[in-house]
Amino acid sequence: MRPEILFPLFCNIETLKGVGERSAKLLSNLIGGHRILDMLWHLPSNLVDRRYSPKLSNAVPGRVCTIGIKVLEHLPPKTSRQPYKILASDGSAEITLIFFNAYVNTLQRNLPVGASRVISGKLEYFNGGWQMSHPDYIVNQFEDIPPIETVYPLTAGISNKTLNKWQIMALSRVPELPEWLDAEFVRQKQWSSFRASLLAAHHPQKLSDLESTSPARCRLAYDELLANQLTLAIARQRVKKQAGREIKGNGLLRKKVLEALPFKLTGAQEKVLKEIFADQDSKFRMLRLLQGDVGSGKTIVALLTMLNAVECGTQAAIMAPTEILAKQHFETIAPLCENIGIRAELLTGRIKGKTRQALLQDLASGKIHILIGTHALFQDEVKFCDLSCVIVDEQHRFGVHQRLSLSEKGNQADILVMTATPIPRTLVLTAYGDMEYSKIDEVPAGRKPVDTRVVSVEKINEVAAGLKRKLEQGCRAYWVCPLVEESEKIDLAAAEERYESLRKIFGNKVGLVHGKMKEKDKDEVMDKFKKGEITLLVATTVIEVGVNVPEATVMIIEHAERFGLAQLHQLRGRIKRGFEASTCILMYAYPLSETSRQRLETMRQTEDGFLIAEKDLELRGGGEILGTKQSGFDEFKLADMTIHKDLLETAHRDAQMILNIDTNLQTPRGRALRTLLYLFEQDEALKTYISG
Ligand code: ADP
Ligand code: MG
Repeated sequence: MRPEILFPLFCNIETLKGVGERSAKLLSNLIGGHRILDMLWHLPSNLVDRRYSPKLSNAVPGRVCTIGIKVLEHLPPKTSRQPYKILASDGSAEITLIFFNAYVNTLQRNLPVGASRVISGKLEYFNGGWQMSHPDYIVNQFEDIPPIETVYPLTAGISNKTLNKWQIMALSRVPELPEWLDAEFVRQKQWSSFRASLLAAHHPQKLSDLESTSPARCRLAYDELLANQLTLAIARQRVKKQAGREIKGNGLLRKKVLEALPFKLTGAQEKVLKEIFADQDSKFRMLRLLQGDVGSGKTIVALLTMLNAVECGTQAAIMAPTEILAKQHFETIAPLCENIGIRAELLTGRIKGKTRQALLQDLASGKIHILIGTHALFQDEVKFCDLSCVIVDEQHRFGVHQRLSLSEKGNQADILVMTATPIPRTLVLTAYGDMEYSKIDEVPAGRKPVDTRVVSVEKINEVAAGLKRKLEQGCRAYWVCPLVEESEKIDLAAAEERYESLRKIFGNKVGLVHGKMKEKDKDEVMDKFKKGEITLLVATTVIEVGVNVPEATVMIIEHAERFGLAQLHQLRGRIKRGFEASTCILMYAYPLSETSRQRLETMRQTEDGFLIAEKDLELRGGGEILGTKQSGFDEFKLADMTIHKDLLETAHRDAQMILNIDTNLQTPRGRALRTLLYLFEQDEALKTYISG
């Protein structure tokens, strides 16, 4: 249960005085939430120092300053397009206040002739005189002007003044919380308490206070990272504690498969297999992430892992994110298994009726050794005889908690998660800190690089002509349609239009696949493409073209500037299949932002997925990484992965140390840490795995 002390922070923003229904809507769009808490994470982006208060006679123009004035004269404009002017003096010199589109009544009321006022704004020297356009403040006394004004990122309809007022109210609800960090650590870092840091972050005194490296922001970032790492560590601790089975086969099946392969394993494949086999052999459960770029040869690693389990008389399963991918795994794995007298079967939602029943029976009686499928594998009706190894080909579709619930299904089964998206090391920690980690950092030798070209969409006719030549030579090609927006409907319309226009050029050898199609129809088109009945496949990225068609050696990506780097890399991976040269054409349209330009340039320069991932991180900055929406990465509100990397490493170690000495978070610090987890809404693992 959420500690009571945090209740005020989880209240709705409408409980703030002055925030009504309408402003709550604007505000929640701005801060990305409806609670006081969400306001707290909305930190200032700038400040205005209003302490400069010179006499006009020796002021420096161009600065924001605060001056006491006396109103001398109103000078209404002669035409409506001219500004309304008010002449004033501070005793040392005169100054003209300038108002465009002014409400004359308001000006006459606020600045009547003869009145003394204090104004603050940007002072300018123009045509031999001082002037100030639209002062930010016109008040009666100096005390009414904030010496240093905090500036927040804003949205239309909410002024900075208003937001400041609300933020002050929100901050006043933050209680002093029990310290969850190690006192010595806080002292070393010269940080202050969570509350003091939060207040400081909201009330910067100088520009450097706004930087991610400021002590206050570092402390907050650390808190957030620690919450993230502690959650993962709790999950990991629970899995690790569970007894596993000592799986160590005699190696005969593996030997036979390796002998049948037309290639030798790469050093990287050997290395990760050694790590995996050691995990299987240990008496704890395996929870390991296998990372390897597209084409690095994960499938064979998966197969050998499963065969180890089969050699011990147990079963193994591999789960793919889509039917197409499951089928593809099956097509690679089944023949190799058949060769050595091992039965591998495919189970998807589409296999029904008697076939399904028979399959389920054979699975339950242990006649099927390896099962390949989609998430349908984990329906209740699917019963294994003795499942000891689960492989999840995840492509970023599962979060920590899903992984954990998955692990509940097998019989003390080992879990290997495979991912093809290269993830920078820092992000591995934040997303997979609960897992051991293996990386295939080498692709099989002899692969030809992809010839990647970046061309303007104005050259589309030349591209089509080149494509025609390629198709005539017997190549197969993908034409990837632009991602228009978050709407699949619009994406689809664009794809259909492109399909029609390409059919005019290439005739009936053009096919179309998109996310809205039924699996069956999708498969049909894909099959035709595989067989070569279709040679040009128009596709939306919805399917992520996760399919292995070795003959496909050309890819054209329309509006490549709209894609993220990770996406482009994944897409291009589809043609990087062979020992044949392939071509990838990235078509862009103007306007091209600097970031997009750099992305395309990166794609042109390298095929190294890890390098691309690092560059992606750099170009996007923290927060929004690798197309985070589908990726399941936690997005951080306060921590910035490009800046707080070191803090993440520290938090990672800190979390482990904490659990080592305080497994159930029972000590006073442990109790405080529970509050931290609730504060950052990382309480799921806590609720699931830790009681009391
Ligand atoms: P991934 O799943 O990592 O994208 P795959 O397992 O599909 O990669 O392998 C890509 C291709 O490389 C397949 O055709 C596979 O047979 C081949 N391959 C795998 N390992 C090796 C190796 N050690 N040497 C040569 N080719 C390999
Ligand atoms: Mg594969």
